[in-house]
Amino acid sequence: MEEECKVALVTGASRGIGRAIALRLAESGYDVAVNYNSNAAEADKVVGAVTAMGRKAIAVRANAGDRAEVNAMFRTVVKELGRIDVLVNNAGVVDDAFLLTVSPDSLDRSLDINVKGYFYCAQAATLKMFKAKKGVIINVSSVSSMMALPGQSVYAATKGAVNSMTATLARELAPYGIRVNAIAPGFIATDMVAHLPEEKINEYLTQIPLGRLGKVEEVAELAAFLASDEAAYITGQTLVIDGGLSL
Ligand code: NAP
Repeated sequence: MEEECKVALVTGASRGIGRAIALRLAESGYDVAVNYNSNAAEADKVVGAVTAMGRKAIAVRANAGDRAEVNAMFRTVVKELGRIDVLVNNAGVVDDAFLLTVSPDSLDRSLDINVKGYFYCAQAATLKMFKAKKGVIINVSSVSSMMALPGQSVYAATKGAVNSMTATLARELAPYGIRVNAIAPGFIATDMVAHLPEEKINEYLTQIPLGRLGKVEEVAELAAFLASDEAAYITGQTLVIDGGLSL
């Protein structure tokens, strides 16, 4: 890191991939805002782990799919930590269903959190980054956006939207020194995957050339690289990290 006290906001950082990214960015020297929706106790643990590394951290509750709550969250982060250099749009939900059983509520919730939430946070972050003429936005997508997995039409559509917004925003924001990239993980060992039936996981394992689920730390390593100046010439990309699943 060239500068001191850079600040990262990671949405959905109380568990799983978001938690690992928050911790890895702290390791790189970032102060970290740990967003969560419902699990304050787990978010506080992440804050504790970051502060134990000598960085500042705050837990900030907001439903990423609610624009007013997102804007309030950004005000809190800037008030408490002073700035925002890196936004990681990670908070996401999956609710598998065959087309005819997709409920309107589930569809709305997926679109609100996985798509609109990414826009709300990108807008709020960009307003702050404009002033610095520098910033990084990382959107957590999924290989489901590139593979046709039955039951995932809604999830795949939301993640496809993430890939498209990533490329377009990269073009829009490049003149302002803001890079925008996406990470598309395959099956990573988190609560999200733990909810799948065991036979489904075993079936997927046979399709992953590297023969195992990914680790959250491996996704976090890629996020830390994309956030860093080593990735200064990378923008608009969706980087796949899936053990070869989508090949
Ligand atoms: P996870 O273990 O289910 O954790 C989800 C996180 O998102 C939690 O911290 C949760 O916070 C937060 N969250 C959920 N709804 C939220 C909302 N409305 N507002 C703010 N935060 C919210 O998920 P994960 O597996 O780490 O997935 C993280 C991201 O990676 C998602 O975008 C997911 O689509 C993507 N992804 C995951 C996999 C995988 O295999 N795990 C693969 C591809 C892509 P609370 O606990 O506080 O509610």
